[in-house]
Amino acid sequence: MRNMECVVVKVIPPNRAKREWLERTARAFAQAVQCGLAEAQRERTANRNRLHYTVYPQARALGLPADYARMAVNAAVALARSYYGQRKSPHFSKVSFPHVNGSQGIGLGVRAYAIVRDGDRFVLRVSTGHRGQYVWLPLAVPVRYAERVAAARGDARLFQRGADWYVALAVRVLPTPTGCSGEEPTFIGVDLGIVRHAVVVAPGAVAFFDGKADRWRREHGAALRRRYQRHRRTDRVRAQRGKERRWMRALNHQISRQIVNLAATYAHPVIVLERLEGIRYRAKGGKRFNRMLSSWAFRELVDMVRYKAARAGIAVVLADPRNTSKTCPECGHATRANRPEQGRFRCVRCGYQGNADYVAARNIAAAGPTALLHGRPDTARLASAGQAGDAGSRLDGVKVCASAHTDPNLVSPMFGTPAL
Ligand SMILES: [Zn+2]
Repeated sequence: MRNMECVVVKVIPPNRAKREWLERTARAFAQAVQCGLAEAQRERTANRNRLHYTVYPQARALGLPADYARMAVNAAVALARSYYGQRKSPHFSKVSFPHVNGSQGIGLGVRAYAIVRDGDRFVLRVSTGHRGQYVWLPLAVPVRYAERVAAARGDARLFQRGADWYVALAVRVLPTPTGCSGEEPTFIGVDLGIVRHAVVVAPGAVAFFDGKADRWRREHGAALRRRYQRHRRTDRVRAQRGKERRWMRALNHQISRQIVNLAATYAHPVIVLERLEGIRYRAKGGKRFNRMLSSWAFRELVDMVRYKAARAGIAVVLADPRNTSKTCPECGHATRANRPEQGRFRCVRCGYQGNADYVAARNIAAAGPTALLHGRPDTARLASAGQAGDAGSRLDGVKVCASAHTDPNLVSPMFGTPAL
């Protein structure tokens, strides 16, 4: 079970312009979620990538800013999942497909909002999708909630009940650590790619799993397939594809094994991977089959690292993939200009230079503590994540308790938090 504490805070009644913005955005958000549900029902799927592909552009067309469109897709995915999750229930035939009833509110992704604190006063700063333009919503925070509100992270939700607006904030609570407290976790950053299969950065170690040598093989395979295609030997094309898949799988087994073995040499290792959305950026371009193979192989490699780590009792956390490739690991400056060309990193502020994949792996490792605290621990052995995380100074003061809702009538499951 996820230990998620949900704190609901009232928004001090906003002025008319803000109220209109909230209502307009909530309407568009509900429509977008409904589009997602319609698609999920039609395609009989709750697959995030598939729904994202069709629903995201629709949501944007409804006028939703990118962050909100993404959250609308997440909300539809979560609802569709909860529906399909009941398939095994004996009452499934009586369960109707979910639809939006207008009380969805507005999902706020981590980038869409910030909580600005000034002493005892809190203001929710909400992005409008236009650079530098925000809607500022002062919050009525009871004193006893102050620390929790200040620590809120992750996805949030603005919603209306009657005439009032509320914001539901998530505070992640880690599972009870079992002994071993005081041990520092070691974060092992793994950047997975297509050209270079993986770069692993751990204290005192960098491992490159280079894919350049395989590239020849894949290009050769593509050329073979083209030739078979010309001679209309689809059987040969298919056989060749199968061969390539099997070869990639064997390679993935080797790489994932080595990554997990490397991690196992550390005390209290935590493997940090990027969340899977990363593949969209990596698998751009290329021939259709190569692209398909790439994303398939990439996903498989991620899955192998995950289950091999879980088997070895090593925690895996998933870091936010945004900015990992363009942030300077030395000074923290993040801009696209730091990547003058593919494969090379050069910080425009401090001049730091390095291999782009190595830089990404370092950034991923650095995102480990945050991912461990707020992200989605991704291991069958949650206890070991708790153990590893226990030492982090950022965890100080986080009380361990069961999922506690402040008001069961106001709280509904947070968006975008898939069940483990
Ligand atoms: Zn720099």
